Amino acid sequence: MIYHRPKTIEEALSLIGRSAWPVSPLAGGTDLLPRWSAGVQDRPASIVDLKHIEDLKGVSRANGDIRIGACTSMSEIEADPLIRAAAPILAEAVGRVACPQIRNRASIGGNLCNASPAADSAIPLLLLDAEVEVATHTDSGATIRTVPIEEFFKGPGATVVAPGEIVTHLRFKPVPQGAFSAWDKFGTRPAMEIAVASVGVAVELGGGVISRARVGYGSVAPVPLRGKAAEAELLGMALSPEVINRCENAAREEIKPITDVRASQAYRRDVVAAMLRRILQRAASS
Ligand SMILES: Cc1cc2nc3c(=O)[nH]c(=O)nc-3n(C[C@H](O)[C@H](O)[C@H](O)COP(=O)(O)OP(=O)(O)OC[C@H]3O[C@@H](n4cnc5c(N)ncnc54)[C@H](O)[C@@H]3O)c2cc1C
Repeated sequence: MIYHRPKTIEEALSLIGRSAWPVSPLAGGTDLLPRWSAGVQDRPASIVDLKHIEDLKGVSRANGDIRIGACTSMSEIEADPLIRAAAPILAEAVGRVACPQIRNRASIGGNLCNASPAADSAIPLLLLDAEVEVATHTDSGATIRTVPIEEFFKGPGATVVAPGEIVTHLRFKPVPQGAFSAWDKFGTRPAMEIAVASVGVAVELGGGVISRARVGYGSVAPVPLRGKAAEAELLGMALSPEVINRCENAAREEIKPITDVRASQAYRRDVVAAMLRRILQRAASS
């Protein structure tokens, strides 16, 4: 395996374009290395290690948006004051990934590019209407295209990122003052647990009714899923027990869980309904 350690985004893209194929971008390696060791994924001919590219690290403000470098670790995001103020739901979700050792290595870009339906950063980013910046090599350097997070995932392990491209940043608007947002995941143990199911809700109120609603589900569909039917039950409504019931029923209908080693399809439906109900009840009393 040939190992490359570029210092800039342009150098990384150029190396990916001219290295022996197959070539794999590497960030924290917390998904890739276990898969290579277990033999469930072939080792590539070349690795392009993105971790040493300063432009891919850290959290900043850009024209009012929050911008996160793809190689920023879960621990850095969890502790970042900008994220804690502008998107506390994201800080909470990445703070519940695995354990401190994994969070120190695992990057948010890797979490998204790995495209697990259980990726813990994905649901908060869906609620935030985040955009993903994807870089491609061109003769004049790196060209960036922007993909709404909702269009980013194509299936388990599949995204819109084409061979030769890398994710460079994520960006989103800070949550407005007074908005409610919450996220939760359920697993059978308190740590080192891939979610059996996760649920996130973000609502904004205007004149006593919900003026913006976002609902998201993890581990219950081939991709991290936005809950558009549940959102439709919330929009324009006050959070009454009847509305919460209708929202819960819509969630049960729109998720597409499977039965696997972690839980049955029916159990996942019940878990999502219970988590969604609890979050909405908290929103109603907040
Ligand atoms: C024990 C254990 C427990 C875990 N628990 C959780 C958990 O609770 N919740 C959770 O969400 N995840 C969990 N994970 C999964 C993992 O830690 C995350 O998915 C992690 O965020 C991946 O980031 P990474 O930097 O390690 O990616 P890597 O392993 O380096 O890369 C992952 C994939 O993304 C690609 N890639 C990485 N960066 C880029 C980029 N910038 N552009 C293009 N492609 C890129 C790589 O080529 C590879 O295909 C766990 C993993 C382990 C080993």
